[in-house]
Amino acid sequence: MSLDAFFQDSHIFHRSFSKKPLHVASANGLTLTLDSGKQLLDATGGPAVACLGHNQPEVAQAITTQLQKVGYLFSGGGYSESSTEELAAFILKNRPGGLSKAIFLNSGSEATDTTIKLITQFWHAKGEPQRCNFIARKQSYHGNTLGGLAISGHQSRRQMYSHFMPSNVSFVDPCYAYRCKLAGETDAEYVERLKQQLDNEFQALGPNTVAAFFAETIAGSTLACVPAVPGYFQAVREICDKYGALLVLDEVMCGMGRSGTVHAWEQEGIRGPDIQTIAKSLGGGFVPISAVLVHQHIFDVVANVSGSLAGGHTFQAHPVACASALAVQKIIARDNLVSNVREKGALLADLLEKEIAPLPLVGNIRGRGLFWAVEFMLDRENMIPFPMDDDFSSKVKDAGLEVGVNVLSNMGFAGMHKIDTAAITPPFIVTEEEIVKIVELLKVAIEKVS
Ligand code: PLP
Repeated sequence: MSLDAFFQDSHIFHRSFSKKPLHVASANGLTLTLDSGKQLLDATGGPAVACLGHNQPEVAQAITTQLQKVGYLFSGGGYSESSTEELAAFILKNRPGGLSKAIFLNSGSEATDTTIKLITQFWHAKGEPQRCNFIARKQSYHGNTLGGLAISGHQSRRQMYSHFMPSNVSFVDPCYAYRCKLAGETDAEYVERLKQQLDNEFQALGPNTVAAFFAETIAGSTLACVPAVPGYFQAVREICDKYGALLVLDEVMCGMGRSGTVHAWEQEGIRGPDIQTIAKSLGGGFVPISAVLVHQHIFDVVANVSGSLAGGHTFQAHPVACASALAVQKIIARDNLVSNVREKGALLADLLEKEIAPLPLVGNIRGRGLFWAVEFMLDRENMIPFPMDDDFSSKVKDAGLEVGVNVLSNMGFAGMHKIDTAAITPPFIVTEEEIVKIVELLKVAIEKVS
């Protein structure tokens, strides 16, 4: 395949070497305006990132003010400033589930890497260095750095780097009822089966060698908005407690209000994780930021034994990122936007069920809050997915762009299943009219390519 003129001439390259990027001239609220003048209704805000929509003037002001105050500090070199401290205090003020300490990084992947290192340091500090095995889930995604991929069960993303993938990470089945629950199996039986499988994995590894179990509370980027069936996370928490391993919940995508509660795990009837990662709706995409939220019991052990945290990044706890995220979080709280997520999320769920579910190529609709996805099937009665060479989700996305809506397509073979999905993850400020329009345009787009 030879590159066309655009890819030959441009000095920048992005992910695709074959599909020209859409050039966006301006972005405001839920509207993306292309160079051509065409406007798109942005139903995803990137991969569930732009929780306040685009171009929020108060956030822009907070960024400018911070730049004029303290634009950069090397936090790893022993410096701090007030926005960073205020942001940590703001998001942890009620110590959710005992999480009481935060460290800020620049991406979800860095948050995952930092978590793996922190856990390693924790078990060394506790005098249990043999706890070096990690369990995660098949088809999962926790980041694209080598550490992030190491803990991710997404086979096709790991494959090329198999020579860098460690042997101390094993994978159990995800909780993905639509494709993995057996015919006639109840939710409770399904949970019991997954619980037994996890228990067996602990036993096989040797229970006192397991450091932690990693899972996304709502499986996001690879499975597309799959909440667990009731009781699953209680079972997971129980097994981790039984063997003294840490539970890490990755809420990089589903956290900070996206699910309809600040933390998605609040809806799972558990006391919370030992460590949690967050990113996308923390900063809303204005300036890159992520965080690792740490339970007091972990912090106490690490801080009391070690003089410092092993590892770090030059730009971690960047003052401008922290000031920007603080402004985002204050707006979400002031404007009661998590209630809007619940309210508009209920409308979105209702309309997807009424308008999209009956379409013949739609197999499943699932989600929570403003985190929803449609999964497509070639033959839904017989559960036959589209073949590998038919990227149906991209066809839906392209048709959406033609009719004026931006949805998040995902096509992949994540190790177990070929999946084609379109996710709808609008900003928390979305209005009723915009929800109605998103579903209307999505329906037109699906029909166009069906
Ligand atoms: N964890 C989850 C659940 C994600 O969805 C992602 C990215 O999509 C990551 C981690 C990695 O985050 P980043 O792309 O910011 O490195």
